[in-house]
Amino acid sequence: MPRERLVGLVFDDRYLTHNTGLDLIGDRFPYPFAEPIAHPSSPALVGRAKHLMDLYGIAERMQRIDPIIASDEQLTVYHTPEHLTRVAEIAQSDGGDTGAGAPIGRGGDRVARLAAGGTIAAVDAVMTSAVDAAYALVRPPGHHAMADEGMGFCVFNNAVIAARQAQRTHGAQRVLILDWDVHHGNGTQAAFWADPSVLFISVHQDDLYPSGWGAVDQVGIGEGEGFTVNIPLPAGTGNRGYAEVFRTIIVPIARQFDPELIIVSAGQDASVYDPLARMSLTLAGYRTMTEAMMAVATECCEGRLAITQEGGYAAHYAPYCSATIAQTLVGLLPDEEPIVDPYGERAETQPASVELSLDAARAIERVLAIQQRYWAI
Ligand code: ZN
Repeated sequence: MPRERLVGLVFDDRYLTHNTGLDLIGDRFPYPFAEPIAHPSSPALVGRAKHLMDLYGIAERMQRIDPIIASDEQLTVYHTPEHLTRVAEIAQSDGGDTGAGAPIGRGGDRVARLAAGGTIAAVDAVMTSAVDAAYALVRPPGHHAMADEGMGFCVFNNAVIAARQAQRTHGAQRVLILDWDVHHGNGTQAAFWADPSVLFISVHQDDLYPSGWGAVDQVGIGEGEGFTVNIPLPAGTGNRGYAEVFRTIIVPIARQFDPELIIVSAGQDASVYDPLARMSLTLAGYRTMTEAMMAVATECCEGRLAITQEGGYAAHYAPYCSATIAQTLVGLLPDEEPIVDPYGERAETQPASVELSLDAARAIERVLAIQQRYWAI
């Protein structure tokens, strides 16, 4: 008898203590704003996501997984000792930037290690079959962090470290990292650029952040050539375009790669309300993407799926996207309705939800033309 499906949830109140400071741009002259604007990476985002999971009765149906504090040994599978030292020194001061736009406050070293350790704990639980799938609702995010510096609100690269954990501790030969954050996962791409054991697929808004990263012709090098798949999409691509991307590119490539674990770098900043990007995904879009990866995981690797939180900055909307992902993972009870979209009826009727734009179709064609060298798509 198969046991009941179990989905893990990593969350810890200490994530809410990660302090990015008062404003986004504090060191430019002349002052960009007369009044500081709150840093977009607010603790309220993951806090609200957790509260929504509680209010909708989702969290109580998930298995609590405690994060660990990632050790030096675990972090240095990717990061340089110099980066660890710098982060530790900044955390002992009043805080500062750990690289290029990745601020922490006093004590922030510990929170960043807890974020990496939360993703590690999720992967451990999935790889040991303690749970079938897991959502690591961690903070700070990770996918921009490079080996030697923090970047773009990310201090340590949680997904990279967790993928290496799956390989080194659990013997996984092939790990798929799908990054649907609206920005490009440059740190993750860099980690596996020449490595065919980790397939990195990123779907993101074309040339948004970081500049120069994530172009369609960035495919990896050496043995890793073909194991980096970049899918840059035009602003305004919504549910319909993303569904087409999953159907024609992501799902077929993922199935051919046949991963033993799927990690999703889940940024909910491709949402229709996000202040930092110009995509139009709604809750239905996040539900569809989650279902697609659950199906691939079921087919290829007994459902082993670990989702780790990346960005998502719409205070009143991104938490609903995260809660919807969690609800999709645990499944609806017989009398339960999916979370109602706060965007209202427009979520279903806006053009981006129903139409594949010409620009998006062309972007997909460009990806197919390049990736058909490596994959039967
Ligand atoms: Zn992002």
